[in-house]
Amino acid sequence: MTDIPQDWTTSGFATRAIHAGQDPDAATGAVVPPIHQVSTYKQDGVGGLRGGYEYSRSGNPTRTALEEALAAVEGGARAFAFASGLAAEDTLLRAVLRPGDHIVVPTDAYGGTYRLVTRVFGPWGVEHTPVDLSDVDAVVEAVEPGRTKVVWVETPTNPLLGIADIAAIVAVARAAGAVLVVDNTFATPYLQRPIELGADVVVHSTTKYIGGHSDVVGGALVVADGAQLPVGLEGPTGTTSLADALAFHQNASGAIAGPFDAWLTLRGLKTLAVRMDRHCASALTVARYLAGHSAVTEVRYPGFDEHPGHEVAARQMSGFGGMVAFRTGDVEKALEVCARTKVFTLAESLGGVESLIELPGRMTHASMAGSALEVPDDLVRLSVGLEDVADLVADLGQALG
Ligand SMILES: *Cc1c(COP(=O)(O)O)cnc(C)c1O
Repeated sequence: MTDIPQDWTTSGFATRAIHAGQDPDAATGAVVPPIHQVSTYKQDGVGGLRGGYEYSRSGNPTRTALEEALAAVEGGARAFAFASGLAAEDTLLRAVLRPGDHIVVPTDAYGGTYRLVTRVFGPWGVEHTPVDLSDVDAVVEAVEPGRTKVVWVETPTNPLLGIADIAAIVAVARAAGAVLVVDNTFATPYLQRPIELGADVVVHSTTKYIGGHSDVVGGALVVADGAQLPVGLEGPTGTTSLADALAFHQNASGAIAGPFDAWLTLRGLKTLAVRMDRHCASALTVARYLAGHSAVTEVRYPGFDEHPGHEVAARQMSGFGGMVAFRTGDVEKALEVCARTKVFTLAESLGGVESLIELPGRMTHASMAGSALEVPDDLVRLSVGLEDVADLVADLGQALG
């Protein structure tokens, strides 16, 4: 008896995360997709491929399982898994940009995204304009019809937790014939699905919440059904399909996720829904505690009514996430807090089960100093993890003194 692969498109989010692309193994019934740690596949006569697999850069069954699951949870038509979030971004930008083109990037984009755009694509003749995406009129002004080929959205932003109105910016990009990209790393598809709001492609650092356990680096692109290359660009396979171009580039430049990394990421994805519920609940408790603390001068959390992006966030997200940022008034105090926490670990990255604390101005965003993306030096960023929230609050209390 052979099982017919299930179509999970009508199922709920958690069901898709656990089952889409992950049918029990046809040969053994193993309920978890095996780690196909293999580079090549026996052909039944020249060109006689089993399941389309010929070489693991081009395709690997464990990676396929992850790609199908990611497409299902984001509501996209196809997904592509990469060795890191930046490898995914690089492949995307190479597929859609040519020398002389222009890209609009958020003023508080992830530092690595900004470095890629300015210092890798800049020398190849791609120009960029940093814009505060919470101001849609500023986006309209920055877009140069005919020359702007990509509008890059990140929401909530890292580390300032700014909010951009995805649907409003989709309309601006569409009118200009540009591709609308959303970096959905902070929100995750559980809280926000940009493709449903009109985005062409979603970017993830799966290193963060999707992997969720701080044990794997990875990235992904998820493409909307029917998404096209920027107006006027023909893809390498002679079509204008964005997914076709990305499939070509993923294989042609080869920055793929390996089988074990894909397997770990898939393992993390299965529990994303329950993890995010707890991340959101604990982050709100922590943010409220900080807001009432005399040593804290400002708390940024999109779940607060007074956050300037709160209304938009409430409309386009089903929860406000696990990231909280706060200021202490001066950098010395911020350094002291970072040095004194015991449950929050001082480290870069985010989205894992363990709580992390960092000082963006000196750590993740140090390379932004002096640029349009500079962050306040006393800003502390928290990735609120899954420990008991009482322990997290007590830890911040003792660290703040
Ligand atoms: C970490 C991160 C990236 C880059 O991903 P890597 O997996 O580190 O290459 C991109 N965007 C955001 C928002 C991130 O937090």
